[in-house]
Amino acid sequence: MSKELKTLCPYCGVGCGLLVTPEGARPPKVRGDPEHPANRGKLCPKGASVGLTLNVPNRLRYAMVGDRPGRLQVAPVEGAIQFAARRLENILQTHGPGAVGFYLSGQLTTEAQYFFNKFAKGSLRTNHVDSNSRLCMSSAASGMSLSLGSDGPPVCYDDIELAEAFFFIGSNAAECHPVTFERVLRRMKKFGAPCIVADPRKTATAAAATLHLPVRPGTDLVLLNGLLRMLRDWDRVDHRFIEAHTQDWPELSALLDDYPADFVAQTCGIPKQDFLKAAEIIADSDRLLSFWTMGVNQTVQGTTTTNAIINLHLATGRIGRPGAGPFSLTGQPNAMGGRDAGYMAHLLPGYRRINDPEHRRQMEQFWGLRPGTIVTSPGHDAVAMFDALERKELRAIWIVGSNPAASMPNLPRVCRAMEAAELVIVQDAYYPTETTRFAHVALPAAVNLEQSGTFCNSERCVSLMQPVATPPGDAKPDWWWAQQIAWEMGFYAGLQFNSAADIFDEFARSTAGRPNDQSALSHEWLAKRGPTQWPAPALGRPARRRYADGQFHTPNGRAKFWARPYTPPEEAPNERFPFLLTTGRVASQWHTRTKTGNVSQLNDLSPAPYLQMNPADAARLKLKEGQRVEIHSRRGRAISDLRIDPAISAGVVFMPIHWNDLWLPASSPNEVTTDAMDAISRQPALKACAVTIVPFAVRKEEALEVSSAGSLVSTNGAPGER
Ligand code: SF4
Repeated sequence: MSKELKTLCPYCGVGCGLLVTPEGARPPKVRGDPEHPANRGKLCPKGASVGLTLNVPNRLRYAMVGDRPGRLQVAPVEGAIQFAARRLENILQTHGPGAVGFYLSGQLTTEAQYFFNKFAKGSLRTNHVDSNSRLCMSSAASGMSLSLGSDGPPVCYDDIELAEAFFFIGSNAAECHPVTFERVLRRMKKFGAPCIVADPRKTATAAAATLHLPVRPGTDLVLLNGLLRMLRDWDRVDHRFIEAHTQDWPELSALLDDYPADFVAQTCGIPKQDFLKAAEIIADSDRLLSFWTMGVNQTVQGTTTTNAIINLHLATGRIGRPGAGPFSLTGQPNAMGGRDAGYMAHLLPGYRRINDPEHRRQMEQFWGLRPGTIVTSPGHDAVAMFDALERKELRAIWIVGSNPAASMPNLPRVCRAMEAAELVIVQDAYYPTETTRFAHVALPAAVNLEQSGTFCNSERCVSLMQPVATPPGDAKPDWWWAQQIAWEMGFYAGLQFNSAADIFDEFARSTAGRPNDQSALSHEWLAKRGPTQWPAPALGRPARRRYADGQFHTPNGRAKFWARPYTPPEEAPNERFPFLLTTGRVASQWHTRTKTGNVSQLNDLSPAPYLQMNPADAARLKLKEGQRVEIHSRRGRAISDLRIDPAISAGVVFMPIHWNDLWLPASSPNEVTTDAMDAISRQPALKACAVTIVPFAVRKEEALEVSSAGSLVSTNGAPGER
C-alpha cells in the first residue's frame, strides 16, 4: 500500500497542507493534512480535487520551439535549451541585458523564484524581473512597508480563534480563502463574534456577515478614515500605545476632521446608522482582526488604503497582541515566498531594495559578485514591462508560471506588446494558454505536486512539499530549466545547485538578520519539524506574531501613521460609460482555469462566465437574464452573458476573471479593464473601470468564431492541441 506524502495545495494563499496517496497511473488520493496549521485537515473543493489536474490532456509534456509564435514544433530537451540560449545571447549581444525581462509567478516555489532572480539580477544584469504578485499583493506589501517598516503581516491564523470581532474589507474570503473563512465562521458561531464586511457586492462573505456595508467601489479609504474619526471622537483610541510606539498621530488626527459621519455615509453610499454601528463594533472589540485583499490592493489607492487599515490598528494598539492585527490575505500560494526571495523589479532577497546602495552591496558580497554588478535602478514593473516590449525597448520576455495574455489589464495593449517581442519564452505546465500563442519557446514545467520545494503562505508560514507524482514527459521543475539555459549561455558561477534543497539553503542564509529572517530553516528542518513561521533566525526562536514588543522595522522603531486623503477612482462613470465594472473570483475556479478547467466537479459548480447586474439597471436597459451582452470601455470590448442579481448595487457590474480567450474570444474582463495603477505600488486598478453595456451584436469577423463556440457554456477551450 502506498504511503501518504505531504505536499501543499497549489491554489490560494491559505496554504493548506495535503496528504496525497499515489495511485499509479490513476489520479492520486488527496485529503487535508490534519497536522498542517493552515487547515488542520480541512480543504475546499479546489484543493480536494487537485489530483485531477495532473495527468490531463492540456498538460505540456514536451518542449516546443519555433521561429514564428504559434507555429511551434516539439523539440528534444537539449534542442530547446540551445534554441532559447542562442536566441537570448543574440539579443544580449545586440541590445544588452536591459532588453531582457522576466515575468514570474506567485505559484512558483521559493527555490525557483530565488534562482530566476539571482540569474537575472546577478548574472545577466537585468533588473526587469517582476511577477504576477504586482497584480495581486504589491499594494499590501508597500502599505505594510510604509506603516510598519516591513512587508509581511504581523498575525497568525490562530488569532482567528482568539478574536472578538472581524472586519473584512475588499475581501470575499468565503469564496477566495474558504478554509480561513470557515475558521472565522466557527468563531462567529461559537463566541458570537461580530463580523463586518465592506464590499460593493453582497458576496458569500457579506451574506454571512453581521453587518454588510455595500460601499461604492473605490471608497474604502473614506470608510476607514471615517471609522477612525469616530473612534477618536469617542476617545476609544489607545493614547499610551500611540505615545510609546508610533509617530505622526497629530497629522493623521487633523486629516480625520475631514471625514464626519454624514460625509462618509454619503460618499460610500451606505446608511449612516450602519456606518455608526460598524464604528461601535470596532470600538467595543479589543481583539479585532481586519482582513483585506484584492478589493483594496487592486485600486489606485491600494497602498494608502492599506495604510488606513493599519492606522486603525495602531491607533487602538491592536497589533502584536493575540487575536488582534491587520491581516493581508495573500492571493497566490507563494506570493509571500516570492517577495521574500525578492522577485519584484524593486527588490532583492531578504526584503532588500535595489535602490539602496547598502542592500546592493550586501547581495553582491553574498552572491560573490564584483561591486557594482547589480544595476542600481529598479527594473520595469509588470505594466511597464509590457509597455517596454511594445516600444521595443525590451526585446525578450521569459514568462514563468503565469498567463499574462489573460490576466493583465488592458489586454489589447498587452497582446500588441507580445506580438512585438523578438523572443517570448513561456514555461508552463499547461498548453495551450492564452499566452503560449505568442511563444517562440514553450518549456514543460512540473507542477508543485511533482517536485520538492517550499511555499510561504499568508501567515508567513513556510512549508515543505514532497514530490507525490512523476512529471509527465520532459516536464521539469522551473528552476531546472532556468539553470540549464543559464549554463548553456556560460553562466555557471553561483548557479551550480544540485537540488531545490541547495537553493533553499542559500536563500535562507540570504535572509539572516533581515526582517523576514528564515536562516534557521532548511528542507531538512521543515521535514523534521513541520511548517514554520518566520521570523525563524538561526540564533533565536520562530515567532508566531510580529511586533509583540512594540518595536517596528522603521529607522526609529516606531510605526508610522499616514494621513491619507481620499481621491476618487481614476475612471468615474459618465454619460458615455455609466457603469463601474468590478472584477473578482468565484469559489470553484482558479486564475485562468488552466488547472481547474479540467475538473468537472468544479465546472459544474461554476460552469460559465457572466456579467452580474442589478435588476433595476437591467430593466432600464431592457436586458433579460441570460442575454449575451457587450461590455465597452475606452480600451476595448468584452462579451458575456447577463446575470441579473439584486446582490450587486445599481450602477455597478461585475465579471469573474477566470474565463478568457480560450473559452470564447473577448470573454475576458481584461479586454476592458484599465491599467491605471496605484502610484506607490504600481499595482493595476483592476477593481473599477467605467463601462457601458449594450446587447450583443455579431460582427462579421466574429460570426464564424461565435457559431463554432456556441453557447458560453463550453469546454475548457482547446486542450492539448499540439
Ligand atoms: Fe487550496 Fe486555498 Fe482551498 Fe486551502 S482554501 S484547499 S489553499 S484553494
